[in-house]
Amino acid sequence: MKVLVTGGAGYIGSHTVLCLLEEGHDVVVLDNLSNSNAESLIRVQEITGKQVALQEIDLLDSAAVHGVLRGGNFDSVVHFAGLKAVGESVVDPLTYYKNNVAGTINLLESMQSAGVHRLVFSSSATVYGNSENVPLTEKLHLEATNPYGRTKQHIEEMLNDLCTSDPTWAVALLRYFNPAGAHESGLIGESPVGVPNNLVPFVAQVAVGRRDKLFVFGGDYPTIDGTGVRDYIHVMDLAEGHLAALGHIQRNCGAFKWNLGTGKGSSVLEVVDAFGKAAGRSIKYELVARRPGDAAVSYADAAAALADLGWSARRNLEQMCADHWRWQVSNPNGYER
Ligand code: NAD
Ligand code: UDP
Repeated sequence: MKVLVTGGAGYIGSHTVLCLLEEGHDVVVLDNLSNSNAESLIRVQEITGKQVALQEIDLLDSAAVHGVLRGGNFDSVVHFAGLKAVGESVVDPLTYYKNNVAGTINLLESMQSAGVHRLVFSSSATVYGNSENVPLTEKLHLEATNPYGRTKQHIEEMLNDLCTSDPTWAVALLRYFNPAGAHESGLIGESPVGVPNNLVPFVAQVAVGRRDKLFVFGGDYPTIDGTGVRDYIHVMDLAEGHLAALGHIQRNCGAFKWNLGTGKGSSVLEVVDAFGKAAGRSIKYELVARRPGDAAVSYADAAAALADLGWSARRNLEQMCADHWRWQVSNPNGYER
C-alpha cells in the first residue's frame, strides 16, 4: 500500500519508514526537517535498497499539505511530525500548540478532502501524567502535566471526536513509552540537536566522550536503587508496532488506543550499567536533585497491544544499548558530518 509518513526523517519515523519499505510498501515522507536531517532517509535507502520520496513541507502550510494528499492515492498516513521537548513546551506553549495541534488539524482536513481515512498517530505515555497506577493501562484517565503532553492529549480527543462523527475513519493512537536504541546496522539512529533531554542519548554522548558525565536526577525515589524507573523500548520494536497497528486499521474502523512499551521498568542506574557494558567503558555520573515534574516509576501494561495486534517488544535492554552504542560510536556527531 502507499503510505504518507509525516515526520518520517526523524528518529522513530526513519526506523518505521525502513520497516515499511522492507514490507514492500510505497512510502512518501512529509517533513520540514526542523529537527532532522535528510541524510537519515538516504541511509534508509542504502539499507533497504529501496527509494523513498521526501516532500520538504511544513504541516502548517495547509496548501502544500493539501497538494501532497490530493491525487497522492494514499491508503494511510502515519503521523510522527511534532515538537517533543517537554521543557521547551513549558517555556513556549503556543509554538507547541500551533505546531502539534494546528499542524494535525491541517493534516486531517487534507486527509478528509482526499478521502484518506486511516491514520496512525504518535501519542505518548506522557498523557498519563504522573499516575501512580503502574503498570499504566489504556483505561486510565488522561492527565498530562505539561503543554507537550497536553498537545498529545488534545489530539487524541480530537481524533476520538472525528471517529465518532464519521465512522469511516480508522485511527490508531499509539502511546509510546521510552524509545531508545537504533537499527542494528548502526547507520540510522537518534541525532539530537543540542543537549539531549532524554536519558539514553545523554548516556551515549557521555560514553563517546562528547559530555563529561551524566547528571542523575534524583537518588531518593522509592525504587530499587532510588533512581527513576521507566519502560525503555527498542525503536525497532516500536517501528514494528506501527506496522501491526496499520494492519489493524485496514480491517477495523473507529479509534483504538494502545500502549507501546515492554511492560518492564528499568532504573536510571540499571540503564547506566547496561550501557557501560555495551560500550565497554564505565559511564561517569553524579547524583543531583530530582527533575521537577518527574514521576518515580512509569511502565506500560502492554497486554492490549498483544491481544489486539499480536505485537510485543522482542528486544531487551542489553540489545537496545548495544544497538544504540553501535550507532553512536560510528556516528559520534549523529548525522552532522
Ligand atoms: P523527531 O524530532 O526525531 O521527529 C519528528 C519529526 O517531525 C522531525 O523530523 C521534524 O523535522 C518533523 N516535524 C516537526 N514539526 C513539523 C512540521 N510542522 N511539519 C513537518 N515536519 C515536522 O522525534 P521522534 O523522537 O522521532 O518522535 C516522533 C513522534 O513521536 C513525535 O510526535 C513525538 O512527540 C512522539 N513521541 C516521541 C517520544 C520519544 O521519546 N522520542 C516519546 C513519545 C512520543
Ligand atoms: N534522567 C536523568 N538524567 C538525564 C535525563 C534523564 O537522570 O540527563 C532520568 C529522568 O529523571 C527519568 C529517566 O532518566 O527518571 C528517563 O528520563 P527521560 O527524560 O529520558 O524520559 P521521561 O522522564 O520523559 O520518561
